[in-house]
Order: sequence, then structure tokens, then C-alpha cells
Amino acid sequence: MTEFKRDGSHLAYCPPVEKWDDWVELDPQAWPRRVEKHYSLVPTICFNCESACGLLAYVDKETGQVAKFEGNPMHPASRGRLCAKGPATINQIHDPDRVLYPMKRSGARGAGKWARTSWDEVLETFGTRIRKAIQEGRGEDVMYHVGRPGHDFIMERTLQAWGIDGHNSHTNVCSSSARLGYLLWHYADRPSPDHANARFILLLSAHLESGHYFNPHAQRIIDGKMAGAKLAVMDPRLSNTASMADYWMPTYPGTEAAVLLAMAKVILDENRFDAIFVKNWTNWEELEVDGFRAQGQSFDALIEALKKHYAQFTPQFAEKESGVKAEIIVKTAREIATAGSRFASHLWRGSASGNLGGWQPARALMLLHVLTGSVGTEGGHNLNAWNKFVPKTFKVPPPQKRWNELLYPQEWPLCTHEMSFLLPHFLKEGRGRIEAYFTRVFNPVWTYPDGFSWIEMLRDEQKVGLHAALTPTWSETAWFADYVLPMGFSSERHDLMSQESYAGKWIGFRQPVNRVLRERAGEKFEYTYQANPGEVWEEDEFWINLSWAIDPDGSMGIRQYFESPYRPGQKLTVDEYYGWIFENSVPGLPETASKEGLTPLQYMRKYGAFEVTRDVYKQNEKPVAAADLAGSKVESNGVVTKDGKPVGVMVDNNAVVGYNTPSRKLELFSKTMADWKWPEFTLPEYYRSHIHRSAQAASMGQPGEDFDPQYMPVVEWPKDAHGDVYTLLPIFRLPNLIHTRSGNAKFLYEISHKNPLWVNPVDARKLGGVRTGDLMKVHTEIGYFVLHAWVTEGLTPGVVACSHHLGRWRINKEDQVERMSSAWVNLKEVGKGQWKMRQLESVSPYESADRETSRVWWSDAGVHQDITFPVHPDPVSGMHCWHQMVRVERAGADDKYGDIFVDTNLSFAVYQRWKALARPAPGPGGLRRPLWIPRVVRPEEAAYYIKKP
Ligand code: SF4
Repeated sequence: MTEFKRDGSHLAYCPPVEKWDDWVELDPQAWPRRVEKHYSLVPTICFNCESACGLLAYVDKETGQVAKFEGNPMHPASRGRLCAKGPATINQIHDPDRVLYPMKRSGARGAGKWARTSWDEVLETFGTRIRKAIQEGRGEDVMYHVGRPGHDFIMERTLQAWGIDGHNSHTNVCSSSARLGYLLWHYADRPSPDHANARFILLLSAHLESGHYFNPHAQRIIDGKMAGAKLAVMDPRLSNTASMADYWMPTYPGTEAAVLLAMAKVILDENRFDAIFVKNWTNWEELEVDGFRAQGQSFDALIEALKKHYAQFTPQFAEKESGVKAEIIVKTAREIATAGSRFASHLWRGSASGNLGGWQPARALMLLHVLTGSVGTEGGHNLNAWNKFVPKTFKVPPPQKRWNELLYPQEWPLCTHEMSFLLPHFLKEGRGRIEAYFTRVFNPVWTYPDGFSWIEMLRDEQKVGLHAALTPTWSETAWFADYVLPMGFSSERHDLMSQESYAGKWIGFRQPVNRVLRERAGEKFEYTYQANPGEVWEEDEFWINLSWAIDPDGSMGIRQYFESPYRPGQKLTVDEYYGWIFENSVPGLPETASKEGLTPLQYMRKYGAFEVTRDVYKQNEKPVAAADLAGSKVESNGVVTKDGKPVGVMVDNNAVVGYNTPSRKLELFSKTMADWKWPEFTLPEYYRSHIHRSAQAASMGQPGEDFDPQYMPVVEWPKDAHGDVYTLLPIFRLPNLIHTRSGNAKFLYEISHKNPLWVNPVDARKLGGVRTGDLMKVHTEIGYFVLHAWVTEGLTPGVVACSHHLGRWRINKEDQVERMSSAWVNLKEVGKGQWKMRQLESVSPYESADRETSRVWWSDAGVHQDITFPVHPDPVSGMHCWHQMVRVERAGADDKYGDIFVDTNLSFAVYQRWKALARPAPGPGGLRRPLWIPRVVRPEEAAYYIKKP
């Protein structure tokens, strides 16, 4: 296994830190002459996905420009390695078409007329509007909506300082279902698998090539494999990940839980489970199922009840549902049992994000971990909360008093995050209005389902009063904003980052490279935009200054949180904000820094990352702190409480902290599900997805016995939808593209610029002998899109697939989204809510300040599929269920590549059909949602009650 060493010796080669101030390499441009180039190397953090790998910016000492980015060997998670997107930061910062100055629209919304404005004008305009809204008690009309956060905590702090419930995120189109599945077991909503030390690794979807925490996890999965671990991959596609696996299990989409429960049945039936772990660390005594009550019964009786309950999940049943051979299911189950406590897995998007009931695969997967005792162990499944470091800041504002129902409406009380993708429908229903709207590295028109409903919302000034797009690039959404505010890339901003990359904790520091270098040379800057290209700013300073603009004299109580902790009454600087955190809340950092004669801030500016601790396992077994134990009592279920609040649990006669669940144990039985109107799902179960074959048959008027309308919505096809019914997999990532920010990364687009429709040869024959390159029309419930076919055996029959990473478009010929990555389109509303898009011109070479744009050789930007999808809110998790039931046919004579049609009237009707499946609050005691389940920017407890009991 690669062990991270602070001198970088875990790598075969890296520039030693003592030479970072003057690093010499031969100039590749001068080859074959040997010309030396001198660089200053400055660490920062990649911003091109959530992994937060360490970058090292090579700044040419002659020009002062960043010449390239490589990996920072001092970063404990990425350990000097990067994926293709990290070094491509160089394309983003030198993009000739990037937005360099704050822009204000000078025509109608969406008309594409812009004029340069100043940061002062922006602050004055928004400061005045927000101040008025807060003073009039309309604080919830201010909304911050984030796509890629890229920072920890500062926005939560800012919004609570303003006293508003205004944080919206993208999470419900990303990972909410997986999160719910995990947190129902153990409160933490993410896994932190210890891949490097595992003996068996099970990945649901393409985690090795494009997963969550992609590069840090990928290198540890390979570490594990090289040490002898076996790898199994469940994925309907033969992804690059599946091609590296010992077992490829091409499950029919949405049937993963059936396979996982069949594995659990094998382990139970063969008595290969870890009985001591299950007995000690689950709430088995609370279990009630099929008329069996565990309370007062023996553990053996519980096991018999479980065996009986899961008897239906035979490997043969799982094979019938999933298509995976029963003997493979049995074999992998036995290998998992053999790996025991060294069984690691990962599930994040894929089956969870694609499917109705997508939270059940996470619950079923965790059942395997519980049965094998591989929770909290070396080589097993750990909790994200144990491996992510979140530091404290000075002067934390109190929780807000109000509850914003545009974010957390009553219909989905168990949603883990804001119901963000339904915002246009909520506003259409008259549930509220937005006075000031900040979209931040967020492009819902393009990345969300039902993008035309977003356009309809954004262009309506009655619904959205003032909209600023804070973004490093032009986007389809920014086009409909009032202000486009340029924010920095990885090397142009400050942020703190930490992720659960391995069984340790680390913190990384993103920093503006030019400012840092110039300040080292003695220059002084008040704001980062003075050192960045043009007037590209960073959010930290923007929010500090906006908070001062809202409350200039401090009378609203807001400004105090943005004042220096060192200079009372003075405006907070970024050096002070981060300096205070590094000095006061990162254990071990001040001591380590002082050994080198550095302040903690200087240390982080020098190295860019710090490992807080490593080998973090079994945190649930930590003894309850003496202060909590004093005056505590043990309840009848073994929970240790103090002042009515749980602080631990008795296990083997020891008071240990346990998990943050109501039982302080892993919740095999979820009373929360029973209390919140889903008693049939108190145990991990198999929930048939909306694209299950029975639902497909129902859409054609022939529902089979597996179709149950209380759980599945009925699909109603538009009258002109023709062709056979398929399941479309629309969410697989291409490893070298970023959702919406790689449009200006020329080297990435050179590698990937097509998203054809994957079709299995069996289906190609059924569709009339379709061949690669043929033009196909794919009908969704609300419209259609037209694209080329790619006939491939790397996909389960009955399923078609298309990557969501491509299909960028622009309305103006010459500007907006980069020309190398977008098609110029004609966008028309041909009837009320009926939208047609046709590509007028695709990619071709063009002249710009970058001579390489004249060498663009590709001529395709792909097709935008997401905009043709209706919203599908899961009735429990609230997650948008991405997979689509579609009808596929050959394109007609009038159809052209890239054509799109959508009727938003139909999308509103689909929204209502799905909403009808939900089981709304109130829950016990008049609650909006369970108090124990986390909520982003948590309000005070009183706000949780619809009506106080
Ligand atoms: S995995 Fe790639 S894109 Fe993500 S942070 Fe690391 S280098 Fe950047």
C-alpha cells in the first residue's frame, strides 16, 4: 500500500519542498535545445470535482503566469496524483472567452445584452434589496443556490448571520437517495470505505473511474487490489471500472437491492454472519416484522425471523429480477463473508440516483456490512463523519428562527436535502417568490431535469426579482441572469476543503496563487480580484463585503460576524478568517508549524494541506466522556442519557458513545420509517423502480402483478411518442469531463465531445438493424431528443445509455458557452410551454486569443438530453430519480441531429403524479421532519414544528 509520507517519498519523483521557491526544469517548448525555466511552486486545491485533490501551480518566474498544474505531493488524500481534470485547470484560467468583469444585463432577461459594471454597484444593489427584505420580515425571499460548493461552512455561517433560511443545493439531483439509505442506519449520510486495506471491494457503478472522491479513492482501490483484494462491480454498463473487476454484475437498473438482499440471505442461511457484532451493535431488540416482536426474545429467534423475512430473496429470484446469474450472486456473497470485517464497498449515485426507491440499495448494502461486522473496521466501511475534518470558526451565529417551505416542503419530510429541482414547480404553484437569487457555480438550465421550466422561471421577474449568477464560466443559466459575477478557479480563490478520502482526517487550503506570490514579494492587496485576471473575485470576500453592505452600521446584528477577531469593529480579512481557524481549531497544526518557525497560516500557505490524524476506526467504541457520564442515567433500552439527551449506549457493560441514531446503535429496524408513515420499510427492502419491466408494461396498458400504483407512478406517453419501450441510463460520468465547467478546458474536450446512444446489438436488431451512426429519436414523457446510435455489447439488453456530460448549447453565435464545446442553436417557444431547439451550427475552428482554437478538429458538441426529462421526486428521499423510461425509434425525415422538443405543461403533470406518491408531514408531535435527521443550515428546534403540540 502507498503510505503517505510528508517528505513526498511515497512518489518515485516529485519536486522537494525546499526547492519550491526556485524550481528548475527544461523548457519543453525549446526542445531540442536545453533551456532552463525557473518556476515558483505554489500549492492550491483542485476545484474540478468534490475530491479536493492537491494541485501545485508552476508559476513561470519570468512571466508571472501559471504555466502548468501538477499534483501536490504534500496532500495526504491525493498524494501527488491527479486525474485529467486537475491539470486541465490550466485551460480554464487561460480561457480567452472567460468572464473577467462583473456584467449587468442591458436588455430584457435572456436577450443576451450585457454591460460591464463594478463590484461596488453589485454590492450596493444586492445589499439594499436584501436589507429591505430582511427588515420587512421577508428574509426567506433571499436564496443562495449552490451547484459545486468547493468550500466548507462559510455559506452556512453567512446565511445564519443574515438570520435567513435560504440555503439551496444541488444534492437532490445528486446523492440524496444514497444519503438517506446510509443515515437511516447510522446517522452519517456517506460511506468512507477503507479500500486500501480491504480484502473484498464491491462497487455499485463506475466508482473506480469516475466516482465520488474519484482520484483519492481510485488509487486506494488499486492499492487494495495490488494487495490481493477482489473487486466486484454492479453496473449495467461495461464501464472501465467493470473491466477491472473480478466480477462484473450487469444488473438490470433498479434491481440492485434484490441482488444485495439475496447475498444477505446466503450469508444468513449459511450462518456466516458475525453474530457478536449484530447482537452488540444493532438495535435488533426493537425489531418488529411479520408479526414477530424481538423484545424479550432470544437473539436466535431474531435470526430465524430475519431468515424467514428474507426467504423470498433467493438467488434465483434475484437472477430473474436483475439478470445476474444466481451462481455469481452466491459466489460473491461467500467471498464477502470470507472477507468479513475487511469488506469495503461504495455506492453513491448510479443505482441510488437513478431509481425510484434508490435509497433501498444503500440500506441493503449496509445490511451486508452489518452481517459481516465490517463497520468501523480496518478494510471495512467507516462513516464520513469520522474521516472528514470540519473546523470551528470564531463567533458562530445562532440558528435561524424560520423554516423555508420552498426548500423543505411538507410533502417530503425525510428528504435529506432541499427539494431544489422542484423550485420552478413550487413557484408555478404559487408557494412563494424569490426577491434576490444567487446561483453559485450552478447551471440548472443545463444540468437539471426539465431545464425549460427553469428558463420559464428565470425569465419571469414576478417569480425571481433579481438574479446573480456567481460563476467562473458562461453557462446556459447565466444567460437568464441579471448579473454575471466572475468567480475564481482553483488558483484564484480561498477555500477550506476536507473529505472522507481514507481512514484519516485532513484539511486542504485552496489559495489564490498570484496574490500569494505577489504578497510574498512585498505587494499588498485589499481584495483578491486586484491580483486575479481582470476583476475575477472570490466568494469569501464577496460575502464579507455584501454582509457589510446589508448592515453597514451594524445595527441589524449582521456585521458583527464579519468583523475581525483581532481588530474589533474592523472588516474581516481572509487572512484573519483562515488564520484564526488554523491557530485555534486544527489540532496539531500550530505545533507542527512552529517546529518550522511558521505561523499556522504560513504553514498552510506553504504546504497547502495538513493531515490531522490517521488510522481512524471504531469511533463508536469510544468511552462516553467523564463529563457526560456524571449525572447520566441508563434507559431501559441501554441508551445513556444526560438531561434527557442521549450521550451513549451500554455495550458489554461499557458506556460507549455509539452512533448518533435514536438507539445509539446501527438501526437494523427503523422506527423512524414507521413513525413517518412508511411502516412497510422499517427493514432494508427491495423497492421496484419506476423503470421496472412491470412499469414499462403498465405504460403500454398491460400492468403485470408486480406493478403497484401506490408505489409507482403511471407513465403517460405524449401522443406522438412511438417506438419500443426501453430504460435510459442518463447519468454515467465521463472521467475527463466536469458537469458544466469543462466547456473551456480544450484538452478535455479534445478527448471527449460525443454522447451517442449506447444500444446493445440485440436491441439494434429489434429496432430494425440499427447501426452505429444511425440517427435515433428518443421520446421521454415530455418530449424527445435526436442523436446518433452507438451499437455496443458493453450494455445490458433492454437498456440504452447516454452520458449527461455533453450537449452544451449557446443562443448567440459568438459568445456565451465556449464555441469549442457548444452548438449554436435556434431556441423557440412554439406554443405556450412548448419548446423547440435545433442546432444551427456545431463546433468548428475559430480565431481567438488562443491560437489553438483555430486547430479545433472535432465537429460535435453532443446532445442535451437532461432538458427533455421530467422531474421524478422519490416519495421518501425526495431525490430526483434520473433513469428514464423512453421510447426509441429511428429518426424521421424531418428530424435532425441535436433536435429537442419539450412540453412543460406535460412536465408539470408528471410532477403532480409523482408528488401524489409522497406521504407528507406532520409526523409525531406535529414535526415537519425528524429532529434527529440532519438538515443543511439547521434552524432552531421550534421551527421544526408545523404546530407546536
Ligand atoms: S479527482 Fe480530478 S477533478 Fe477531482 S479534485 Fe482530483 S484532480 Fe481534481
